[in-house]
Order: sequence, then structure tokens, then C-alpha cells
Amino acid sequence: MNLILLGPPGAGKGTMASGIKDHYRIPHISTGDIFRTAIKEGTELGKKVKSILDAGELVSDDLTVALVEERLSQPDAKEGYILDGFPRTIPQAEAFDKIAGEYRVLNFILAHDIVVNRLSGRRICKNCGEIFHIKSKPSQKEGVCDSCGGELYTRPDDMKEAILNRLEVYDAQTAPLVDFFQAKSQMADIDCNQPIPAMMEDVLKVLG
Ligand code: ADP
Ligand code: ZN
Repeated sequence: MNLILLGPPGAGKGTMASGIKDHYRIPHISTGDIFRTAIKEGTELGKKVKSILDAGELVSDDLTVALVEERLSQPDAKEGYILDGFPRTIPQAEAFDKIAGEYRVLNFILAHDIVVNRLSGRRICKNCGEIFHIKSKPSQKEGVCDSCGGELYTRPDDMKEAILNRLEVYDAQTAPLVDFFQAKSQMADIDCNQPIPAMMEDVLKVLG
């Protein structure tokens, strides 16, 4: 199964992707994670994209498409894959559609005001990557990870200004993909304004 997760930041694409990955045993490919890892490791790619990510802007289509093409050519993606955060623009979608076989799309739906609430309260463990939320999933001790004792931090692009910018970019560049995929593929809507287990149930039901 080849799957695209489409939807605004904070909708829960990453969380659903890890559930789908365990269920179907296909790799979870997140362009955001690839860029963040590159930044953390200080690679050439990381140096190129750091300021773009921090501001909530988009990396260029050429660079992103080349990166994804390379990733999809790896042996573990032969039996299927979950794309999370790609494609994000019409040119990316067109490039993908040309190289991909059949694929399905999950369209994650969440209102902007909820996105802002979710992201601005998000805290991530520097050490193990576990995700907390100051209101809906607080750690026992403020700023400290329950699982490993690591330090919690706020992603630079989860600062209020960057969130608003990401939403603007989403509306302008990514939302038009809904129409694009409606015409090209099998697409299902997922209501993201519900608890994670209920969302997961909806996702697995749709995928069958
Ligand atoms: P979000 O939490 O906003 O869904 P991601 O983790 O998917 O974010 O991506 C984080 C950042 O990485 C984006 O704001 C953007 O700068 C960059 N990025 C990720 N995927 C793409 C893409 N397909 N095209 C361009 N830039 C991307
Ligand atoms: Zn931790």
C-alpha cells in the first residue's frame, strides 16, 4: 500500500503514521523528520534548510522531490510506504504522481484554531523524542520527560509566529492538493478533532 497523509500541521499525521507503520509493516517517510535529522547532524542538507524550517517556510520543490525520489527507491519502500508531509505543493504532487504507481490519500481535517492550541503547547523530549502537551498531556515534572528524564523543548517552528506562518503556507500551497488528489486517487477524510485511539480506529477502518 502506497499512502499519502495530507493535512495541516498538528493534525496528528505523524502519530497515525507510526500506528499504520506497525500495522502494515511499511516505512514511515516524513520529509519534516528527514530535514530535522539533517539539521541535528549538521549535514550540508541540514545547513541549507535550517533557517527555512525555523521560519515555517517550505524547502524548495526541486530539493524536496529529489530527496523523496531517492528515499522511495530504497528497498524497504518497494512493498509500500507512508508519506507524511509530502507532497506539499502542486509541483511536488505532479512530480510524485508521475513516478508513483497507485496510491491512496488520507485527508486529515482540523480547524486552524485547534492547530494553534495543539502546536503552541507541544513539548518534545530532546533525548527520546516523546511528545507531551502542556495542557492535554503534561509531563509529571515540568520540562522533564516522563520516559527517560530528558529535557523537554519547544520546536522553533512551534513558536506562535511560525505556527501562523505554517498555516498560511498550508492554505496557500498545500490545501489545493485536496482537489488535485480528488481527481487522481482514492481519498478519504479523517476527522482529527478526536482522541488519538478514535482517530486510529477511523484510519484503520478506511484502509481496511
Ligand atoms: P508539520 O508539523 O508542519 O506538519 P513537518 O514535520 O511535516 O511539519 O515539516 C516541518 C518543516 O519541514 C516544514 O515546515 C517545511 O519547512 C519542511 N518540509 C517538510 N516537508 C516539506 C515538503 N514536502 N516541501 C517543502 N518543505 C517541507
Ligand atoms: Zn525522553
